[in-house]
Amino acid sequence: MSRVKFLGTAGARFVVMSQLRKSGGIWLTLDKTNILVDPGPGSLVRCLSSKPRLNPRDLDGIILSHRHLDHSNDVNIMIEAMTNGGFDRRGVVFAPSDAIDTDPVILKYVRDYVEKVEVLKEKGTYNLGNISFSTPVKHLHHGVETYGINFYGKDISVSYISDTTYFDGIESYYNGDVLILNVVRLKKSDKIQHLSLEDAEKIISRNKPKLTVLTHFGMTMIKAKPWELAK
Ligand SMILES: [Zn+2]
Repeated sequence: MSRVKFLGTAGARFVVMSQLRKSGGIWLTLDKTNILVDPGPGSLVRCLSSKPRLNPRDLDGIILSHRHLDHSNDVNIMIEAMTNGGFDRRGVVFAPSDAIDTDPVILKYVRDYVEKVEVLKEKGTYNLGNISFSTPVKHLHHGVETYGINFYGKDISVSYISDTTYFDGIESYYNGDVLILNVVRLKKSDKIQHLSLEDAEKIISRNKPKLTVLTHFGMTMIKAKPWELAK
């Protein structure tokens, strides 16, 4: 069975720091391929306390959409857990180059534990287990190199729009049947480089996915009761 499991719905610094919402990222199972996307703080704890328990050794790969801590904090421990402490060389890790080279969030010694570390690039397409995925466009104005992801299964596709400021035509890159949207802000802000609820409405009304899931909430979204906003 294919499934998206949210190991938390916290977004940005304050909600993550206070753990008002959890911040473990997204566990995607598609055509029997298991992928962990954006393992923020607490990802390992959330996997192990999930019911049913999610075993990191079942992961085929880990993807970082970008290097910010709320997306990458647990990447090293998750690599250890995926590879049985480095004893079973397996799995693939995907991340933008600035998460690997410039000021790496992926420690060098754990890179030997995995089969491969692959660099995400604009217009990249990648294979993992039984599925493929693409990173169609570089998200501008988020401070670090950031990508959204389209996952392609046999019968269903899932689009994940990670952190970004809204830019013209962003929705045209993410046409998945299921759309996962990181909506940090209730209202637009010139200073904060994130999508707002208004941006989300625009994207959803243009793309009309079969299902949209709003996640990665900052404080203004949580105070406004996301379940009511979603209606
Ligand atoms: Zn970010």
